[in-house]
Parts: sequence; C-alpha cells; structure tokens
Amino acid sequence: MKALVTGGAGFLGSHLCDRLIADGSDVLCVDNLYTGSLDNVRQLLGGTGFNFLNHDVTSPLDAEVERIFNLACPASPIHYQRNPIETTRTCVHGAINMLDLATRQRARILQASTSEVYGDPDIHPQSEDYWGRVNPIGPRSCYDEGKRCAETLFFDYHRQLRLRIKVARIFNTYGPRMHPNDGRVVSNFIVQALRGQPITLFGDGSQTRSFCYVDDLINGLVSLMDTPDDFTGPVNLGNPVEFTIRELATEVIALTGSSSRIECKPLPDDDPRQRKPDIALARRCLDWEPTVQLRDGLAKTIAYFDSLLGQGAEARP
Ligand code: NAD
Ligand code: UDP
Repeated sequence: MKALVTGGAGFLGSHLCDRLIADGSDVLCVDNLYTGSLDNVRQLLGGTGFNFLNHDVTSPLDAEVERIFNLACPASPIHYQRNPIETTRTCVHGAINMLDLATRQRARILQASTSEVYGDPDIHPQSEDYWGRVNPIGPRSCYDEGKRCAETLFFDYHRQLRLRIKVARIFNTYGPRMHPNDGRVVSNFIVQALRGQPITLFGDGSQTRSFCYVDDLINGLVSLMDTPDDFTGPVNLGNPVEFTIRELATEVIALTGSSSRIECKPLPDDDPRQRKPDIALARRCLDWEPTVQLRDGLAKTIAYFDSLLGQGAEARP
C-alpha cells in the first residue's frame, strides 16, 4: 500500500508515518516544515519504504498513491493565527490539491478535520450531527472556517465525483513530539512546569477540554481509513473524559513535582467554553475508543519534554 501523509513531519503526522511504516506501507511524507520538523521523522529517513518531500500543499502535487492522509495545517492557535491568510489557503487550496490528486489516482483520502468546526458549542457533548456555532470573522476563523470549507469540499468531491472520502473530527490530542513552543495547553503547561516558570492559565480555568493521547488517535485514524467505502464520516475522534483547564494545570504540577505557581492571563477571543466529543459513532462503526488515561499519557509526555529540554530544545524554531 502506497500512502501519502501531508503534514507528515508534524506532531500527529510523524506518529502516523511511524505506524504506517510499521504496518508495511510505503509512505510519502509531504511537509513544508512550517510547524513540523525533520527531527520528528529522523528515525524513518533513509529507511525502507519512506520518502520525504519538502512541498507546500497549496501547490498541486503529482504522486502515485493509493491512500492520502491530509494532515497539513498548523494546528495550534498561535501558529495558525500568525499568518491567517496562509492558514485558510492551506486548508482550502491544500484540500483541493489533495482531492484532485486523489481523483486522478482513484485513491482513498482522509481529512484531518477538527472539533473546531463546532466552534463555541451550545450543545454538549458534541455529536457529528451538530452544525456548530462558529464566528466567521474572528481570530480563530481562518482555521475553523478553513476546516469547515475543507469538509464541504470533501463531501462535494464525494457526491459529484464519487471519490472515496473519510473525514475525522479530531479533538484535542497530545503526546511526545508536540513542539515545545507550540502554544497548546498541554505542551505549554508541561514545559512551564519543568522550567519552574508560572503556569499560564487563561481565564479562570473553568473552560473544559477532553484530551486524547496520540497513540489512541492514530489507532482511530488508521481504523477510519480501513472502513468500507460507504462509510465517510464525519466521525469524532477524541477522548470523552472532560477536564477543566485548571484541573489539567493541577495534574501537571503534581506529576512533574514542580514548584511552579498558577498565573491567570486573559482568556483569548472566541475561546470555546466547553468541549467534549460524543464518540458513539466511532465506537459503533470503528470499534474504537481511547484506552490511555490522562495521567498515563501526561507521564509519557512529561518524560519526552524532560529529555528534550535537557538537550537544549530552545534552539529549535
Ligand atoms: P502540527 O502543526 O504539528 O502539524 C502540521 C504539519 O503540517 C506540520 O508539520 C507543518 O509543517 C505542516 N504544514 C502546515 N502547512 C503546510 C502546507 N501549506 N504544506 C505542507 N505542509 C504544511 O499539528 P498537528 O497537531 O500534528 O495537527 C495535524 C493535523 O491534525 C492538522 O490538520 C490539524 O488541524 C489536525 N488536528 C489536530 C488536533 C490536535 O489536537 N493535535 C486537533 C484537531 C485537528
Ligand atoms: N490555555 C491556557 N493556557 C495556555 C494555553 C492554552 O489556559 O498556556 C487554554 C486555552 O485558552 C483553551 C485551552 O487551554 O481554553 C485549550 O487551548 P489549546 O490552545 O490547547 O487548544 P484549543 O483552544 O484549540 O482547544
């Protein structure tokens, strides 16, 4: 099986490449290294079946592939808001280019969509039939609306051109290989705790998220790609156990044994108040659910950052 992974040098993409190579696939990893790093795929470079191509998905691509996993897109708010026009371009033009490639190759294609398509939700937990509550003109809109438009494109290529598509709505996922300056909450809290710096809690910390460990998420993506052609999704992939952000801060401080104190900062605009996936569809159709408890996943992630910071990770962009 020849698989293309866009965004393959990023956090999730690199774990997916590892898994596909371990399963015996040939993998073409495509990435422009905007937020990703070759360090994430160093273990695969030069190995059998793995190729890396430095390419921006906003430009068309030709490759012989049977399966496409479209993950290319900055995922952290600070990164996707740094160049919002480019974020929308990556979501929309990137989707069109990969869908065109899938059409030419008659390949199956999976989109890494996001819980952000639900916006700041007024139903809880979020199931796939909820249409969302998204601000179309706010600072998060380049990502939220870009991802919503990508979903639209996937379903139009499916209806109009009978393309075989799969859409995963991924909820907050964490683990080793998150960038230390990524800005997302789990990596921020762990890096701050390990450095003995204040833990930056945005708002009063009562907003909630549900955190999925990366290995669970990758199992979900692979299972989704393997479903019969008539299963398109969208399907939620995430951990249904909900925590407040303050609880997360307390847990990270306890697990690292850090002397860091919590420092409250203003809540960013449009920050969703609560988020928790309804994963009934994934349980039923993928026979999938997360197995890693937050405490265990955090311990593995802390060990990763502890080692990385010991090697002078600040040197990385
Ligand atoms: P990440 O930033 O680590 O990875 C994204 C990768 O895409 C990076 O390697 C980056 O260099 C690459 N990229 C960005 N723009 C590109 C472009 N124009 N052309 C080629 N490559 C480009 O983020 P991640 O957490 O690994 O997220 C991967 C995907 O999963 C993203 O599409 C994201 O929206 C989605 N997702 C992630 C989460 C999560 O919690 N991690 C949640 C929901 C959705
Ligand atoms: N957050 C925080 N401190 C940080 C980074 C994030 O309190 O240093 C909060 C953020 O405001 C949000 C939650 O943690 O309520 C999750 O943020 P993240 O950027 O990880 O993901 P998203 O908002 O996209 O779910």
